[in-house]
Amino acid sequence: MTHRLFIANRGEVAVRIQRACRDLGIPVVQAHSQADRDAPYVHTADQAICIGPARARDSYLDVAGLVYAALATGATLVHPGYGFLSENADFAAQVVAHGLVFVGPPASAIAAMGNKVRARQEMIAAGVPCIPGSPGPLPPDPAAVAQIADAIGYPVIVKAAGGGGGRGMRVVADPAALADAVALTREEARTAFGNPELYMERFLTTPRHVEIQILCDAHGNAVHLGARDCSMQRRHQKVIEEAPAPGVPAALIDRVAESCLTACRRMGYVGAGTFEFLYEDGGLYFIEMNTRLQVEHPVTEMITGIDIVAAQIRIAMGQPLGLSQADVRFDGAAVECRINAEHPDTLLPAPGRITGWQAPQGPGLRVETHVGAGYTISPHYDSLIAKLIAHGPDRATAIARMQAALDDMAIDGPGTNLPLHRRLMRDAAFRQGGTGIAYLETLLATEGRA
Ligand code: ADP
Repeated sequence: MTHRLFIANRGEVAVRIQRACRDLGIPVVQAHSQADRDAPYVHTADQAICIGPARARDSYLDVAGLVYAALATGATLVHPGYGFLSENADFAAQVVAHGLVFVGPPASAIAAMGNKVRARQEMIAAGVPCIPGSPGPLPPDPAAVAQIADAIGYPVIVKAAGGGGGRGMRVVADPAALADAVALTREEARTAFGNPELYMERFLTTPRHVEIQILCDAHGNAVHLGARDCSMQRRHQKVIEEAPAPGVPAALIDRVAESCLTACRRMGYVGAGTFEFLYEDGGLYFIEMNTRLQVEHPVTEMITGIDIVAAQIRIAMGQPLGLSQADVRFDGAAVECRINAEHPDTLLPAPGRITGWQAPQGPGLRVETHVGAGYTISPHYDSLIAKLIAHGPDRATAIARMQAALDDMAIDGPGTNLPLHRRLMRDAAFRQGGTGIAYLETLLATEGRA
């Protein structure tokens, strides 16, 4: 069968998917909104189709419109990228119902992992370590909820089963505040996610964010590609990611990754996926699974030499992984900086026209971007304009290469977070490795700009 791949996404990930398709010899159809009509990657695609106005709800989030466009252009495969509809089970189901192949897991797996109570239960059943918490959804009776919290131990965090993007969560420090916190979070969950179901976990106070990348094919083969550390975050958005996770024992990663693969087999998972954990006091504790490509996948590609996007597409076409766990080798260390168009001081989005663009070059460097001089950053979409990835034989070399690359990079026009990245690469705690998820916000708060 001759394939043709429809990219239901935009920006740097669209460029990334186009590259993988070129390697595989698969023609691409690029979907684009009216606002993205002039983007360079729209013109490098074999075919482009406008899917609606700038507003994402009317274009990149329009399930029926995207499926129709994919069918109209003769596509056979649909890649959702990340964000937008990538974790929308209905989209995956509609794609398949119309005879197309979704580059991602079955809709059933997306739905299962999209409900965090169900995801937790699946993980416990597969032996994946979870944070001590409620066994299922919180009951309506406040006295029963109080008993569950007492058993877990304070502080606890109340979370929406349907939550995402760091929303629908509330930390509760003591029993007196519990009932109100549960009632408020339930109301928020009902309005924001259309699902009032809640659960509860112990709140970890000094964790790191560590995640495990997996790949599963449709023939029962599954491997893990090791761990990434994504602890450098602001407002639950990752700013810097790296692989491997510094100081986390490889034996622990291997053991926990094995349980992740068990979970994948149990739910018939096919494709690439990421298990996210909090790491504290030497233990990894599951928080959620992302059933899609991650923004930070390149750091794993750099240390394994495995093209995760090409693997996703090959898996979707029914090909076997062609890899066993013993074939997955880890080489050196890689760091990724997310370059955002945002005001360097306030860190608020700063759309506008890029008047000058100088990308760095050098050994071990990779620049993933959809922009260049003359590109106008739209206020309609997120502020990520480039990812800079540096690889080296060890972490210190990767950081040194990143530092030089950031110094060589110049973007004129809108503000960017380049100054923040330059500073973090020189930060003593970051250089030592192992800073927690609160580190960056604490650092910024001391300067009054959290
Ligand atoms: P989302 O899908 O909204 O990203 P997560 O469950 O992944 O929700 O949690 C988002 C973030 O909230 C985590 O990265 C972490 O910073 C914080 N968090 C979630 N659960 C806990 C917990 N039990 N203890 C401490 N922090 C937590």
